[in-house]
Amino acid sequence: MALRRKFVAGNWKMNGSLAANGELVAGLASALAGFDAADVAVCAPALYLPQVAELVKGSKIAVGAQNASEYAGGAYTGEISCAMLKEFGVRYVVVGHSERRALFGETNAQVAAKFAAVLAAGLVPILCVGETLAERDANATEAVVAGQLDAVLALGADKLGGGVVAYEPVWAIGTGKTASTEQAQAVHAFIRARILAQSINVATAVRILYGGSVKANNAQALFACPDIDGGLVGGASLQAQEFAAICKAAA
Ligand code: PEP
Repeated sequence: MALRRKFVAGNWKMNGSLAANGELVAGLASALAGFDAADVAVCAPALYLPQVAELVKGSKIAVGAQNASEYAGGAYTGEISCAMLKEFGVRYVVVGHSERRALFGETNAQVAAKFAAVLAAGLVPILCVGETLAERDANATEAVVAGQLDAVLALGADKLGGGVVAYEPVWAIGTGKTASTEQAQAVHAFIRARILAQSINVATAVRILYGGSVKANNAQALFACPDIDGGLVGGASLQAQEFAAICKAAA
């Protein structure tokens, strides 16, 4: 048996409608009927989470949110707490996606607070880390990823072990430019080694997903790398057959 069960999560971003979600989940559930070789989740826009939680009933597909507040409740207009997400059948919460860091100013400290809040609610955070192209070109990939990771590791390695890490080079997200298997594996190995310095058990068990233009035609090679335990998939997760094929590549 593999050391770590593979995991593929779809990030729909701000896409979907009642009708489109129904079609997408039905197509996915049917394409994945009987498939149990990896964990699968779809992370839908918050408003559609109750709908998607209903739609996945009877399948093995789990539901994820794309963001959550770091606060438990109170005067935070427009925010959604982890406890609220849990009430609607959510299991995973993406924290620190590069779009939230870049467009909504989320800092490493805020992302760590969100990670802690997700865990405290009994949900599973998916922590996104990754460098921009300018940072890679400046040989700063490891420093950037280490800073993002360390903010969460500071909560305690055991806390990190309650979540999932996703390495998503920003230059590969939505661009059609996938990291090569060598580039991705190198950063995944770096992340695992950094965790290992704090806890061998957590480093061995924690799943590190790759994200950035994962498609059916590159998923298998990426997922075969020793430190890549599945994928966080954006654009391709909006097509049932394509996403199902990526999930099957994780078997
Ligand atoms: C993402 O949104 O996390 C992502 C990896 O997007 P894409 O697969 O479209 O690059």
